[in-house]
Amino acid sequence: MLSHVEVTARVTVSPAAHFVWSNRVEYSHDCFVCRRVGRTVALQHGATQGVCHSSRRQLEWQDDLDDAGMHPAPIRITGFDTASDGGVETLRYRLSFWWSPFADLKRPGERGSELGDKPWVRVYYRVGCHTCRDSGVDDWVGEQKSLQSNMVWPVTSSCARCGTELVTMSGPPEINLVG
Ligand SMILES: [Zn+2]
Ligand SMILES: [Zn+2]
Repeated sequence: MLSHVEVTARVTVSPAAHFVWSNRVEYSHDCFVCRRVGRTVALQHGATQGVCHSSRRQLEWQDDLDDAGMHPAPIRITGFDTASDGGVETLRYRLSFWWSPFADLKRPGERGSELGDKPWVRVYYRVGCHTCRDSGVDDWVGEQKSLQSNMVWPVTSSCARCGTELVTMSGPPEINLVG
């Protein structure tokens, strides 16, 4: 069957922040293709399939990919919305996937479900610092950063160069099964 999950993340940004959500996400998933619970799928908006692997880390090297039993998975981003309102930046993903019940191949007592017991997600963003821009720093748009469900909340992110507070997130992203 075709199932859908909605992920919503909200951050508060300071006036000094130039904030942009990324269009990629990693998500915990019980994968009926490899019949394992608690896998990780890496998704990018526009891609027609996800990539399932066993690691909670971001995979970067071919060795990691081989070790992690990576395979294409029938899950993709079918909705991607961002909104800005009074210093609050909201991100909403709809993830759609094919799914059917299964027992875990290596832990037969565990059953896969549409939404696991402790679902988690990692979302990505980029934030630049206007304080640095105004003082003439060339690369004031920072590198990509991420927020994930298992962080200690609230999370505050400041400019690595000048220490200006840029982003605050009060709690983990919401993850809900939707009809
Ligand atoms: Zn899989
Ligand atoms: Zn700065």
